[in-house]
Amino acid sequence: MAEGTAKGQNGRAGGDTIFGKIIRKEIPCDLLHEDDKCIAFHDIEPQAPTHFLVVPKKPIPQLSKAEDSDAELLGHLMIVGKKCALKLGLTNGYRLVLNEGQDGGQSVYHIHLHVFGGRQMLWPPG
Ligand code: 5GP
Repeated sequence: MAEGTAKGQNGRAGGDTIFGKIIRKEIPCDLLHEDDKCIAFHDIEPQAPTHFLVVPKKPIPQLSKAEDSDAELLGHLMIVGKKCALKLGLTNGYRLVLNEGQDGGQSVYHIHLHVFGGRQMLWPPG
């Protein structure tokens, strides 16, 4: 499958994506958190009882394109993820996932962290 078409969804490497439209409020989302650096919202196709995404406002297409100077921003996504998880009552644990590129199963080429919770996660993840 070509880059950006995994799972048949939107997004071209380096181009605008559905997440850009959500960040600009051009399309709605079920918002959990917003600050000057990122936004968190529930996934439209949840893979667990709780499944939300943490997305930086900076449109880094994927982890492999991130720069050393993005380190603080990427760490911020994890901190926001754990705060949102707490807010949603995921006190028994949860899982963070970042899909990278074709083999990683990435479908939207605007870097994002998945947070899954509300059930026992399986390992290996598949
Ligand atoms: P990826 O496959 O790139 O790691 O994850 C992309 C995620 O974005 C998928 O879990 C998919 O369900 C979610 N997604 C795609 N389009 C939308 C949308 O318009 N709104 C929301 N809330 N989630 C979306």
